[in-house]
Amino acid sequence: MKARIVTLPGDGVGPEVTAAAVAVLHAVAARYGHEFVFDEQLIGGGAIDATGEPLPSASLAACQAADAVLLGAVGGPKWSDPNAPVRPEQGLLALRAALGVYANLRPLQVHPSLANLSPLKNDRLRHVDVLFVRELTGGMYFGARTRSADAATDECRYTVAEIERVVRRAFELARDRRRHVTSVDKANVLETSRLWRSTVQRIAADYPDVKLEHQLVDSMAMLLLTRPNRYDVVVTENLFGDILTDEAAALAGSLGLLPSASLGDRAPSSGPAGHLLPATGEGSSVRPAAASTLMGLYEPIHGSAPDIAGQGVANPVGAILSAALLLRHSLQLEAEAVAIEAAVEQVLRHGPHSRDIGGQAGTAEVLDAVLAAIEDHA
Ligand code: ATP
Ligand code: MG
Repeated sequence: MKARIVTLPGDGVGPEVTAAAVAVLHAVAARYGHEFVFDEQLIGGGAIDATGEPLPSASLAACQAADAVLLGAVGGPKWSDPNAPVRPEQGLLALRAALGVYANLRPLQVHPSLANLSPLKNDRLRHVDVLFVRELTGGMYFGARTRSADAATDECRYTVAEIERVVRRAFELARDRRRHVTSVDKANVLETSRLWRSTVQRIAADYPDVKLEHQLVDSMAMLLLTRPNRYDVVVTENLFGDILTDEAAALAGSLGLLPSASLGDRAPSSGPAGHLLPATGEGSSVRPAAASTLMGLYEPIHGSAPDIAGQGVANPVGAILSAALLLRHSLQLEAEAVAIEAAVEQVLRHGPHSRDIGGQAGTAEVLDAVLAAIEDHA
């Protein structure tokens, strides 16, 4: 397969971990006979320094024309003045909006060999394997705001179409996993949550093979800590997802381990991804896109980690697992994705481990071990 991948290394440790992920993709391409063409572009603080803008139009155009986008991290102390006219984070928000990526996927696994790093010292953590699907383009983040001297409001708004597309994607993803969806809301209080719940209920009828459960967000916050191994796919709106995924990330032991994918649709004929697979043209307008029409932005969940940037000690695992998600969701290369995940699993089991997970290894050493493990598996 031939695919064009835009890389946005960004700031801080972003370039270090992105380089590791690209090295892994090169290894997969060589091993499985694919041709991946990489196109590196600017975003964030580095882009502000070079062009004055956090998301230069050339970067955005390259992303829109690519088969997938792999991002490192943006931001850092150099650009953190709150009075600055532009900030690095604006580049990332603008990119997500322009790409229309509405479903943020965050897989969480607690590796048995790292369970001692998790705040929960309990056997219940042994088999945690949850996929969070957070709605990313609606809700309170995008509602109207008001402010007077002694009051403020933040509007929370959702349309049925916005709920439906992300929930359908969650059900589709559950079919490739353990066929269990937990929908999280606050339907005992919020009108948007009642709309969310009734929409989920209606869509569930199209997926009789998937078990659906509703959970109130406050209960869910507790259950994530007490029964994390009960969950398979967890789908929720933007703000609840923001909070719950940070809580969940703590269970893994280090921010440096976790990948993410942000997925959207694109018109079947508009993207060059059309050459990858024929468009199926099936389904209603709000069904998840056919494989060929997926827009995907992949990044580790950690930030630019300025405290360790430039030292060669960042854990590359979150970025490497993001590359695996890219292969799975944008390129439909499931076997290759699994090969990367198995290689990472082996390195987490036997080392070498980076400092954030209690070891001494640098980024390069961890990368080399992952590359060697890929050779072993293939
Ligand atoms: P942002 O605002 O961009 O989300 P943040 O301040 O919330 O950033 P990070 O930049 O992710 O968070 O850093 C939080 C802590 O986690 C830091 O101490 C950092 O060194 C550590 N950390 C983050 N990513 C990694 C990594 N890949 N390897 C090792 N440590 C990491
Ligand atoms: Mg943060």
